Amino acid sequence: MNRRDFLVTGTAAVSWGCLAGGKVFGQVAAPTPATPPPLRVQFTPLRRGVGIFTARGGTIGWLANADALVVVDTQFADAATRFLQEWPEREGRLIDAVINTHHHGDHTGGNATMRPFARQLVAHEAVPALQLAAAARNPNAPAPTVAEALFAESWKMDAGDETVSARYFGPAHTGGDIVVHCERANVVHLGDLVFNRTYPVTDRAGGCRVRSWIQVLETIATTYSADTLFVLGHGKPAFGVTGTTADVLVMRDFLTAVVEQVEADLRDGKSKAEIVTRQNFDQFPDFRVEQNSRLPINLGVVYDELTNAT
Ligand SMILES: [Zn+2]
Repeated sequence: MNRRDFLVTGTAAVSWGCLAGGKVFGQVAAPTPATPPPLRVQFTPLRRGVGIFTARGGTIGWLANADALVVVDTQFADAATRFLQEWPEREGRLIDAVINTHHHGDHTGGNATMRPFARQLVAHEAVPALQLAAAARNPNAPAPTVAEALFAESWKMDAGDETVSARYFGPAHTGGDIVVHCERANVVHLGDLVFNRTYPVTDRAGGCRVRSWIQVLETIATTYSADTLFVLGHGKPAFGVTGTTADVLVMRDFLTAVVEQVEADLRDGKSKAEIVTRQNFDQFPDFRVEQNSRLPINLGVVYDELTNAT
């Protein structure tokens, strides 16, 4: 085998591994299948000009009023195209800001599609490097389109008769998760800080730190008001992708249970291989799945965090 043949073969093997390997698949944004299934798109108004769009990938949030348009997250290129074409309130206008809640491909994969129709692309300052690093680990990934309007702690803009603000509370689901607040509507997009009754993606290479994530959720639960409506990146269909502080606290309780389980297993002298065998937690029946559980990955990431593994 000459060098060129080796490279071609090696790339093909890596490609197939990314598509076929369940654990790899669960850790990073899903690669676009060769023939994606038909999209089922849905625009759902929430309140005061704020709504959500669901098709494929992390929930898109939108704000539309007489003077401004704002979009939170971009799913994938095909979904973003449908969003731009079918958003009733857009009426051909430029979008004042497209905001990425974090770097994962199912939230940023439509950036290139939306960028020509947006005045600015906003994200936490850690996000571009995380996008580029994730792309470098996945040879199938297209070159990412990264935000240029970056911030470290907080960001705010006037958007017609609405104020849109964003805050960074620390490492959590990734190293660059922000929370986006439409203040007068009092709707907060949490990105992937809450998976609503599904085992979360825990991407240690992307900066996930579970103990800090628990603290971030504690802060969110006390920062916003009882009337706040939260938009959630993903959710089991029966529970949906909007919620309240109670749903934020379920996520906190789940992550706390994962940490406590691994701590107990470490005290019992269990190995990582023994720790990552659980498929479900009996105390969280709403999360239960019969196959492709991400709980073993969650346990493994917490093991690595508690033992300072790479
Ligand atoms: Zn994510």
